[in-house]
Parts: sequence; C-alpha cells; structure tokens
Amino acid sequence: PVRVRFAPSPTGFLHLGGLRTALYNHLFAKKAGGTTVLRIEDTDQTREVKGAALSIENILRWTGIEFDESPTRGGNYGPYHQSQRLPIYHSHVKKLLETDSAYQCFCSAERLDIMRLTQQKTGLPVKYDKHCLTSMTREERQRRADAKETHVVRLNVPTSGATVVDDMVYGSVSYPNAVIDDQVLLKSDGFPTYHLANVVDDHLMDISHVMRGEEWLSSTPKHIILYNRFGWRAPKFAHLPLLLNKDRTKLSKRQGDVFVEQFRDAGFTAQALVSFVALLGWGPEHVHDKMTMEQLIPAFDISRVHRGGAIVDTVKLRSLSKAFLIEWPAEFERLTPAQREGLDALRAAISTQVSSNGANQIPADRLTDAYLHAVVFTMKDRVSLVPEIASYASYFWVDAAPDTQASSGPFGALLHAVRRAFAENLSAAEFTEDRIIATIKAQLPREDQLNGALKALRMAVTGAKSGAPLGKTLQVLGHSRTLSMLDNSLA
Ligand code: GLU
Repeated sequence: PVRVRFAPSPTGFLHLGGLRTALYNHLFAKKAGGTTVLRIEDTDQTREVKGAALSIENILRWTGIEFDESPTRGGNYGPYHQSQRLPIYHSHVKKLLETDSAYQCFCSAERLDIMRLTQQKTGLPVKYDKHCLTSMTREERQRRADAKETHVVRLNVPTSGATVVDDMVYGSVSYPNAVIDDQVLLKSDGFPTYHLANVVDDHLMDISHVMRGEEWLSSTPKHIILYNRFGWRAPKFAHLPLLLNKDRTKLSKRQGDVFVEQFRDAGFTAQALVSFVALLGWGPEHVHDKMTMEQLIPAFDISRVHRGGAIVDTVKLRSLSKAFLIEWPAEFERLTPAQREGLDALRAAISTQVSSNGANQIPADRLTDAYLHAVVFTMKDRVSLVPEIASYASYFWVDAAPDTQASSGPFGALLHAVRRAFAENLSAAEFTEDRIIATIKAQLPREDQLNGALKALRMAVTGAKSGAPLGKTLQVLGHSRTLSMLDNSLA
C-alpha cells in the first residue's frame, strides 16, 4: 500500500517549496488510494519556532491538503513529533553500535578542525577519518560513553564500493562510498540528527515513497546505507526539482514573497496557489490554464516531474488568480466556500484601506455579503485579486469627494437632467443597468456624445475616470447613493 509523508521542520512559515512537496505527496497518494502522514521533524531545538508545527498543518488544511495521520489527527504510527520519539532513536542506535555499523566518537572540535584543514590542504575529501573507530575497541568506546564522556555517534560508512540511489525523477545516481562522510547520527545532547530520525521513522511508519526536495538527494546514499545496516528495505525515492527565482538562483525571500501565508494574506485563493504550485516542476500531458485539486489528482504522474529547476513566476500566479476570479457566479447562493472567504478578505482590505485614509466609519449596508458579492461580480474582470478592489474602486465604500467641475463642464446641463430623470422616472427597484442607460440616452440630444456623457456622470458619482461599465456600477451603488452623490457634485 502507498504511504507517503510530508516531514517539515517547524522553523516558521510554510515555504512555497514546502507546499509543492506536500502537494505532490498528496496527489500521488490520493491517486493511488494511499495514506498521507504529516510528521514534524523537530529534533533541532535551536531552529524550532513555537507554534509553527500547528500553523503548518493549518495552512496546509487551508490549501485543501488534509493528512490522514498527523499530530492533531493522530493515527496508528504516532507520536508524529520526532521530539516525542527519542527513546525509539536511542534503541535503534544501540542496535547499530552492536554490529559496528555505528560507533561513538569523542573527538574534540579542535581535532576535527585541524583534520579538515589538513584534508583541504592536501586535496583529500573532507570527512571524518574514523579515528575513534580505528584507535580503540568497541568495549573501550562503550566504557567511555558509559562514563558520560561527551561524544557523538557516527555512521560507519564503508570505505570502498559505491551506493546507488535509484530515484524516480533523477534516475540511477551512484555515489562512491569513499566520499561519503561518517555522518553523525546522535548528537552530544542525545538528540538524533535528521538522517537517523528520518530513516528510522520512515521505516517504522511504513512509508513506501519518499518525495522531497532535490536538496536532499545527496543525503540519500547515507540513508540507503542506514537502511542496509538496519537490514530494512528502503522506500522508493523521488526528489523534486528546486524552485528558482526568475534569474535561476535558488528561490529566496530577498526576491519577493516565498511563504504560503504571505500569498494567502495578499488575497490569493487556495485554488489559485495549488493550481500554480502543481505546475512547478511537473506538467500533465494536456495542460489546462488552471486545474483544481479534483482535476490534479487523477492527472498527477510522478514520471512527468522534470529534473530542471522550476522558475517561480508570480505573473503566472496572478493570471491564474484572475482565471479563477472570472468564474465568480452572479448568484450569491452559488458562491463556493473559498469565494465566500474572498468576501472576508475584501472586508479586511477595505478596513485597512479606510483606516489609512482616515475616512469615517463605513455604513454597515456597504459591508454585507450580498453587497460585497455584487461589487466583486461587477469588478471581477478588472482585477486579479479580490482584495485589490478595495483600493481600485474605493468609491463602493467611501463616498468620493464631490466633482466640483460637474455643473460647469460641457455636460453640466445633461447631468442635471439625468439626475432629475433618475429621481422622477426610476424607483429604487427599477434602478437597473438597462433602465439606467436607457434613461441617460433619453436625456441625450446627440448620440455621439454618449461616451463623454457617461464619463462625466462617472466622475460625478464615483470620482473615478474608469471602472466597470457605468450602468452596472450605478446599479450596485444603488438609487439613493447615486442621487446623493450627484447632489453633492451638482451643488
Ligand atoms: N525535515 C526535512 C525538511 O525540513 C525533511 C526532508 C525529508 O522529507 O526527508 O525538509
């Protein structure tokens, strides 16, 4: 049976690359009817950020990735925090020590420094020289360790031969054992290193496939040696290409947003992000402009993951976001939960916008779901992200300053006539796009002036030179607000 895991270290927000790894694991397992595991690799206490483990699980849930087994959901293979599994690692290290597959090392930092410098100078591979393995017996090492002498435990890597990684993406990669370091497995504080904990847990949690970033490929021979020494069968490995900046350097914070939380807070939907991240390093045979989780699961195929790095182009992300935004339905009842979440994001953006403007409180009827939905539906082809509407068309919430030129401009008389016709001929219920435009046209002596007239009216009511079609805009603003804005501008 397929069992995969996502194994983040809880060091902060979720990196886009982390989302990609979690997503590919999810797609692969769900397609195969398998199981997904979230395991928190928190054995490096110095790098741990409080609350990060929970927030990683939460943000992944927001993207639509829910694990079958996790710290919060539990499961038969727990605990799912490595820091709660220390006795397990210790008992496994003991087994390795008994067969000389691992050994205690008492070398001081000074000795290791000198060793490395000498190796560098003489052009030798920089790696531990097995001093503690060759200069004393197993019993002597054990006696010193029992006497609580400071030490680490190292993997005893064979000095000849080669270790072959058979990777589902990178193919068969052979590493001469002579260049593989005797990796530290247990640190002097008694905590396991990533390598030991990762291998022990992948085995004990019955993981069938390991999918992770390419940066771990070069660690995999050490892992395979460990599996061999334990007498275990290694899982299948699939390493995923690095994510790159536009200039092909490794994706970094300095060149823009890299955390899922940042994209969420900017107003990107989970759908747009998932659709975007899915195509970083993989492409289905028939590429659609955007794909939902439901479409991605059957389409996913690990053999189509590329080896070259994948460039993160946020212009593409914006256009995906727009492609999903265009699909907003006219009927409020048909909004999806994600779209309803978009209304909350818009509400939040409006309040930020307003407090930075110093404007007065916004009337409650301009913040209802129904009103916000009408605004989004009207504006959806002009922005890429829902919250952008707050600044792009702030007049939907904050009355524009009166257009002082409205009365005196070339369309002054017309605006007065239109105002009167709106007031006398149309009720609030009749104030619809078609009736609005028909009313304006009826007041217009010369048809060739329609565009100019609409512009003047738009300025007078919204204070903006452009926006959605005017009839729609006024319909959303409503009869009474349109009239009162005209009053202000025509005073
Ligand atoms: N804890 C490692 C990380 O943060 C996991 C790597 C792996 O999946 O083996 O990336």
